[in-house]
Amino acid sequence: MTDLPARRLLLVHAHPDDESINNGATMARYAAEGAQVTLVTCTRGEEGEVVPPSLAHLAPDRDDRLGPHRVGELAAAMRELGVTDHRFLGGPGRFRDSGMMGVPQNHREGSFYGTPVDEAAAHLVDIVREVRPQVLVTYDPDGGYGHPDHIQAHRVAVRAAELAADPAYRPDAGTPHAIAKVYWNRVPRSVAEEGFAALRAATGVTFPGIADIGDVPGVVDDALVTTEIDGTAYADRKIAALCAHATQISVQDRFFALSNHLGQPVFVREYYQLVHGPSGAPDGERETDLFAGVEA
Ligand SMILES: [Zn+2]
Repeated sequence: MTDLPARRLLLVHAHPDDESINNGATMARYAAEGAQVTLVTCTRGEEGEVVPPSLAHLAPDRDDRLGPHRVGELAAAMRELGVTDHRFLGGPGRFRDSGMMGVPQNHREGSFYGTPVDEAAAHLVDIVREVRPQVLVTYDPDGGYGHPDHIQAHRVAVRAAELAADPAYRPDAGTPHAIAKVYWNRVPRSVAEEGFAALRAATGVTFPGIADIGDVPGVVDDALVTTEIDGTAYADRKIAALCAHATQISVQDRFFALSNHLGQPVFVREYYQLVHGPSGAPDGERETDLFAGVEA
C-alpha cells in the first residue's frame, strides 16, 4: 500500500451529475493538488428527465438508453475535473436509478433504493479497503433533498465505512480500513440566498424561471457548516463538468438549470458538515481543507 498517494478522498453519489453539482470544484482542486480522488456513483441515472429535445428518445419510456449515455457524460465530466478514478457501484448498471420518491420504480427489481443496504455496501467496502481514503464525502440522511437514491447512497456509504473498518467483516476481502473523517454535502443558507440574489440581478440570463432555495440540496443554517473549500480557481472546470452532463443540465454564465428549467446558482465555494473525525480548524472557525487534522 506504499504506492498510494498521501491524501485520498472518496465521494459517494447517487447519479452522474450529482458529483459535479455538489463537489466539482473540490474534486478538481484536490486532483490538481495530487490527491487521489475516487468517485463512486451508485446508479447510471436511467430515470432522469432529458433536457435537450434532440436526445429525448433516450428516456426510459422510449429507448431506455439514458443510462449508457450518462456513463459517457460522466466520463467527460471527470476529464474536465482531472479525476481519473471513477467507478459505478458494483459496475455500470448493477443498480438501477429508483426515480423520484413515490413512483413504482422505487421498488422495481434491481432498483438501488430497493436493494438491501448491506448488499450494496459490500461493493463499497471492497473499494474502501482498496483505496483506503482518509476522507469520505456523501449526503446527509435525507439525501440532501429526499430523493430515494440519495437517501440510499447515504445509508450505503455510512454502512460501508462501518463494515470496512471491522476486522470481523469478510476478513478475506482486504485489510480493514477506518476512514478518519466523514462529511455531508452542505450549502449555508446565506450563501444560497446570495447566489439567488445574484441570479435575479444577472442580465442576459434567460431561464424561464428561478428555482426556490428549497430545491437546492443540503441547504442548512450557516452554523452547521464546518468546512469551506475555496474552489474559485477551478470555477471554469466545474462549469465545464456541468456542461458535460448535457442531458440533465443547461448552463448559462455562472448559473444552471435542471430539467425543470429553473435557474439556480453554481457554487464554486463548496461547503461541508464534518460528522465524524477530528476538526482541523480553530474553535469557531471553518476548516478550509477536508484533510485538516489527518495524518498522511
Ligand atoms: Zn441525483
